[in-house]
Amino acid sequence: MKQLKALDIGLRVLSKFKSNFAYSRIFIPEVFLLAASILLLLFIFIDLPIDGFIIFTVIAFSACIYILYLIGSKQRKEFEKISLAINSIRNNEYNNASDVKLDKYLSKLETDIKKMFIKNQNDIKYLKKLEQVRTEFLGNVSHELRTPIFTIQGYLETLLNGALEDEKVNRNFLEKANNHTLRLNALLNDLIDISMIEAGQMRMSFRYFNICDFLVDTIKEFQPQAEEKNIELIFKSAMKDLKLYGDKEKIKQVMVNLIQNAIKYTEKGLIEVSVIEEKGFGMISVKDSGIGIAEDDLDRIFERFYRVDKDRSRAVGGTGLGLAIVKHILDAHGTTIQVKSEPGIGSEFSFKLKR
Ligand code: ADP
Repeated sequence: MKQLKALDIGLRVLSKFKSNFAYSRIFIPEVFLLAASILLLLFIFIDLPIDGFIIFTVIAFSACIYILYLIGSKQRKEFEKISLAINSIRNNEYNNASDVKLDKYLSKLETDIKKMFIKNQNDIKYLKKLEQVRTEFLGNVSHELRTPIFTIQGYLETLLNGALEDEKVNRNFLEKANNHTLRLNALLNDLIDISMIEAGQMRMSFRYFNICDFLVDTIKEFQPQAEEKNIELIFKSAMKDLKLYGDKEKIKQVMVNLIQNAIKYTEKGLIEVSVIEEKGFGMISVKDSGIGIAEDDLDRIFERFYRVDKDRSRAVGGTGLGLAIVKHILDAHGTTIQVKSEPGIGSEFSFKLKR
């Protein structure tokens, strides 16, 4: 029994020795070369008898083995600490970068591992946020789609159940169902736009174009809508030949959204589209005398599906995506949209484009 225990201890020592020795393998040539040089110097300068030399050689060899063992043991402990830190990060066992601790002389490595840990944490946070945004977006999309589909379904069922023959309501119900299909179509178009933009698939084609001609043409398209609401829609500009740099098609989309919003959220008065010259830029504005936006909502109106008044937005055919698309397009032009607004007085949206 005692022999077995001794054998077990012996094997364990041997295995530890082997493992420590393995960690010091890279130093073997240096250590033995140093010992051989010392022996050679002793042999040359001290007149040692041969048996004394043999004893020195044996001592030097044993010293080499011991030194290698000590180096290996230290190296092994260091590597184990590094490996523990990496595994703990991998298994999410650390809460803080300060949990990563290595020996003082490995402070550079400790800092690098801490930086890696912080980056890792930030990436995980970012991915979680992305996942949450995606889920919220999908929830919003299904909600937005469900409302018009249910409404259309409701009107069609009522018509099929007899209202089709009722002259007083049939036309009205069909018109309402048709309006909701138009809303569905607008929503799908905006959804396609925003997914393309956010997937980085918005292809831009920048060039100089005459901004006044462009704005006059765009405004013309909205005159009938403005007239229908008795709103005056005018264009104001001092410079006829001002050329600005941008993607004309995308800027058109921006203007359509801004002018459409101005008409949607204005009941009386004036909508003024203008362009003024600034140093290196042209500033385009859409100003209305509409319902205005409260200060608390101003920061949020560019978020997807954010509306100050959901029912009002839906009633006027809004999708809640227009300003998010506007923001993305202007971001791609390296510019930002500014908004000034006062409830009951009106709003002004403006942005700059390079000259
Ligand atoms: P929507 O399709 O609902 O109009 P948008 O993204 O274009 O969505 O606008 C977001 C919200 O910002 C609108 O629902 C509305 O509450 C507010 N808003 C946008 N433009 C105006 C404006 N000119 N006047 C008042 N409110 C506005």
